[in-house]
Amino acid sequence: MISKIIKEELIQAAKEEIDSANDIVIVSHISPDGDAIGSSLAFANFLGTLDKRVKVIVPTAYPDYFGWMPGAKDILVYAEEKEKADEIIKKTELIIALDFNVLKRIGDMAFCVADAPARKVLVDHHIDPGSFADIVISYPEMTSTAEMVFRLICRMGYFTDMTKECAECIFVGLMTDTGSFSFNSNQSEIYSIVSELIKKGVDKDEIHRRVYDNYSESRFRLMGYMLTNKMKIYPEYGAALMCLTKEELDRYNYKPGDAEGFVNMPLSIKGIIFTALFKEDEEKIRMSFRSQGDVPVNEFAAEYFTGGGHKNAAGGQLYVSMDEAVRIFEEKLPTLAECMIAERDRQLSI
Ligand code: MN
Repeated sequence: MISKIIKEELIQAAKEEIDSANDIVIVSHISPDGDAIGSSLAFANFLGTLDKRVKVIVPTAYPDYFGWMPGAKDILVYAEEKEKADEIIKKTELIIALDFNVLKRIGDMAFCVADAPARKVLVDHHIDPGSFADIVISYPEMTSTAEMVFRLICRMGYFTDMTKECAECIFVGLMTDTGSFSFNSNQSEIYSIVSELIKKGVDKDEIHRRVYDNYSESRFRLMGYMLTNKMKIYPEYGAALMCLTKEELDRYNYKPGDAEGFVNMPLSIKGIIFTALFKEDEEKIRMSFRSQGDVPVNEFAAEYFTGGGHKNAAGGQLYVSMDEAVRIFEEKLPTLAECMIAERDRQLSI
């Protein structure tokens, strides 16, 4: 039995918006991950079964290893076809925003989406949703936006119409946002959902292989280089920092998604409970933070790195040099000392 977590009035409001629109655009965040692509393609597939005209638009390219997903080839990448995308967004009747909380998460696309006359529905699981949408369906306790899409489709009464392709996309979102059910995955109901997805024909072993055993050789070379040369451990806190400059990323022919999962790796080391990955972009440093237990990396990211996210998974960015970013990190790291040491000692005592 799957409980009715999303409020009935939100389900009805979303259903009314969908019922009264024929042209629908689905948008998701920069550097789209498995949940962004999975929830978007699942929703698009579902709307397709209702005979809606649907376009999925993402701000920047998605990793090659999601290319097999049903509908992936039809995704429009804003950075590559801006004028076409602007035109579609301007004319659409309904925009469904998935897996992001505020418009700055969709980068250059934000202006067009904000100005579009279309009605807007936000479905997301990040804290502090913005106010750009007419209907906001925000449940930070959910594992993934894909889980929310599953619940929405069921609650609107369309579970029996859900296709295998839709189920596959939902599974990708659920799997990737929980690290293959290794974190944020103690909610028993998600396994009831996975069970329903498998009954729809999802081959979960095959999907795991397609997503996680489909990386490029250069990603592996980059990983090896980073772990050997670019990982700094702070044993006094149980923390680790890895940095990759633009020159290093270029040297290893870096492509979107190539650093997926890197930030989690040092958590596999005994006694490490907080990790950070800094990546140099054109003019800024992008940070990812991960933690275990009661170490609030979202607060750390928000306070010092103009970012945010979940308690155990957050990101940020600073327009400074790599050296300066590292300096700030090392200066601010002690602010988490108490909770890091408590969590490290808790783990080491078990
Ligand atoms: Mn997500």
